Amino acid sequence: METRAARRSRGLLAGLLVVLVATAGCFVGGVSDRQEGGEPAPRRSAAAPDASTTRADGTTSVEEFAQDVADAQAVAERYWAAQFRASGQQFRPVRRIVPYQRAGQVSCGGQPLPRNNAVYCSQGDFIAYDVTWSVAAFRQVGDAFVFYLLGHEYAHGIQVRLGIRYDFTIQQELQADCMAGAYLGDSVRAGTLTLGEGDLEEFREGLAAVGDDPDQPWFAEGSHGTAEQRTESFFRGYERSLAECDLG
Ligand SMILES: [Zn+2]
Repeated sequence: METRAARRSRGLLAGLLVVLVATAGCFVGGVSDRQEGGEPAPRRSAAAPDASTTRADGTTSVEEFAQDVADAQAVAERYWAAQFRASGQQFRPVRRIVPYQRAGQVSCGGQPLPRNNAVYCSQGDFIAYDVTWSVAAFRQVGDAFVFYLLGHEYAHGIQVRLGIRYDFTIQQELQADCMAGAYLGDSVRAGTLTLGEGDLEEFREGLAAVGDDPDQPWFAEGSHGTAEQRTESFFRGYERSLAECDLG
């Protein structure tokens, strides 16, 4: 049996040259007045093992997490730049990725961001995430979760660039899951990403953990979809690419 460290070393992103993008600019302007509602924290469930059952073996350091975030950002930028180029459009990467540790440390459109959240903020064109919460999810679910989470938030930035805005948040969210699936599946098919053993299962576990409570009405503001809906949307994009995501 392989150790997680061994698996990781030849897992996701083997061979990818990672470009660390200097974060520049301030939170100015907004391409839209819409504030994405953010992602609910993964709920502890059978699909999201708690600390006592996690498969993490202590090698999942904060440094590895930060590297995975940077890698996921680089893959997403490369992927979306290629998509835009192919349709003859100019691509502007999401301006910056902002980790935070305290509630209110980062605001979006004047709204302080809470703990246990990840969000794309259209007003400043940035992605922000609670680093403590994200690292905990990374340790519980695995490195693939970081690539999914970043891909999902990045997809909200792409929706804004494409002027896509649905009436119900669940439509916006399930499309972002499909787009996250497409960026990952297409990157694997292109050889930009190499999945490690267990990564597909990690996607499933991560999606199961971020599903809405089954009692939540689908039309409620902030609904993201049940675990089943999110999993279906993600894998539709993952297996069959962007054409399945109704980008118009
Ligand atoms: Zn979202």
